[in-house]
Amino acid sequence: MTIRPDDMAAFKAVLDDKSWSTNADEIAPHLVEWRDRYQGRSSILLKPDNTEAVARIVRVANDRHVPLVVQGGNTGLVGGGVPDAGGGEVLLSLKRMTAVRDDVSGDGFSLGVEAGVTLQAVQETAKARDRLFPLSLASEGTATIGGAISTNAGGVHVLKYGTMRSLILGLEAVLPTGEIYHGLTRLHKDNTGYDLKSLLCGAEGTLGVVTAATLKLYPALHCHAVAFAGLKDVADALALLAHMQEACGDRLIAFELIPRFGLELVSCHMPRCRDPMETAYPWYVLMELASSNQAEDLDPVLEQALASAHEKGMVQDAVVAASEEQAEGLWRLRHSLSEAQKYAGGSIKHDLSLPQSRIPQFIQQVTEQLAHRVPGIRPCIFGHLGDGNLHANFTQPEGADKAAFLDRWADISRMVHDLTVEMGGSISAEHGIGRMKVGDLERYKDPAALAAMRRIKTALDPNNILNPGRILAMPGH
Ligand SMILES: Cc1cc2nc3c(=O)[nH]c(=O)nc-3n(C[C@H](O)[C@H](O)[C@H](O)COP(=O)(O)OP(=O)(O)OC[C@H]3O[C@@H](n4cnc5c(N)ncnc54)[C@H](O)[C@@H]3O)c2cc1C
Repeated sequence: MTIRPDDMAAFKAVLDDKSWSTNADEIAPHLVEWRDRYQGRSSILLKPDNTEAVARIVRVANDRHVPLVVQGGNTGLVGGGVPDAGGGEVLLSLKRMTAVRDDVSGDGFSLGVEAGVTLQAVQETAKARDRLFPLSLASEGTATIGGAISTNAGGVHVLKYGTMRSLILGLEAVLPTGEIYHGLTRLHKDNTGYDLKSLLCGAEGTLGVVTAATLKLYPALHCHAVAFAGLKDVADALALLAHMQEACGDRLIAFELIPRFGLELVSCHMPRCRDPMETAYPWYVLMELASSNQAEDLDPVLEQALASAHEKGMVQDAVVAASEEQAEGLWRLRHSLSEAQKYAGGSIKHDLSLPQSRIPQFIQQVTEQLAHRVPGIRPCIFGHLGDGNLHANFTQPEGADKAAFLDRWADISRMVHDLTVEMGGSISAEHGIGRMKVGDLERYKDPAALAAMRRIKTALDPNNILNPGRILAMPGH
């Protein structure tokens, strides 16, 4: 199936010449996703720069029953923002919608931005006004606010500030039938019926095109302390988390788990990454304390908390960053993990959350079961331990055939997801469902929840034109 010439003409007719392209070279980067797992086809890219134009596009799509695929920075990891291989889906990019619409409001704790603004640009705008926008991901230089809202993105500061959903005060979106939902409020409290912004957040573009948002800002963080600790096992990492929370309260803003294999990969393959310790440990934790109080010295607080953790046997060794440069170097180890795995061959990846107390048992069982099934498989299990969120990745055995290993993705994931759900966890902590996990959602989600989700999709998008086939398969379409 391809896009019909009369449908193409109908889109062009409602847009100015800068707002669409049929140039294959311009379209090409939008057709492949970051992990190279999905390669799509589409012959037209729509790139409006205002909400009215988005609404006109959606109306044409709805009237003519043409599927639209919404894309922001294209850093999503579940294939949701890339058109399918059929060639019949029209690409709608929000990347030209980059205005900061609303300067910091009277109280200085909110910011209105359009959907195509990158997370990094929002962070910098907030910083320039002595404020903090706390959402932080390794992809923040490219990921957009619209994408972060649509995936309810998480990242490294969820422990203190929550996911994207808790950082939105108001939202503007074009609904699948073309109406504009004007919800750009700055209110912290608004109990006037169903909360559409919360529904659209995490809907992965299936219920509306997010065009702008009012974001919640926090006081800027003026002092930081970062440490890297070597541990003997994951149970100690959890004990250390509780210990640090008790000792440091809400000054603990990040707590990330890193395995030895992950540290070896980044030290070996990534520029300016080196193992900060002389002795090797099976597990590491990267943690950060921060405070908005300029006068607070956090290094002694962190050192003292780590010293008592060491006395109690939770920590084998620790390094506290002595400068901003060293702190950046420690964070680089964490942020380089995803990229570094590419150098070790194929990797089968999962984005899970578990009740924290089950994490050590999960890691032990999944590792044993997979070693039995694929001798030599190399687990690289890391992530946001403070949120119970593990990126449970499994790298091919050394020297194995990459394609043959990746062919086992479905089989291995079934085992990993079955164990996750058996232990009370979720098969998607922060990346979403996209196209990758539609079958998994069908298998594991509560049937009543699935049926309600389908009814919501049908009510808002009766012609199934927005991101069809993402999150839910819709029988009859
Ligand atoms: C190296 C790396 C690290 C990452 N780390 C994290 C992490 O720590 N935490 C985390 O949560 N994610 C992480 N991600 C995943 C990804 O970066 C986030 O999900 C991000 O929020 C996606 O933003 P985007 O603009 O790139 O969206 P895209 O990839 O363009 O789209 C993602 C989904 O949102 C939809 N969408 C995009 N824009 C809109 C819009 N305006 N309206 C409606 N729907 C829209 C798309 O259709 C698609 O379904 C990481 C990705 C990479 C590559």
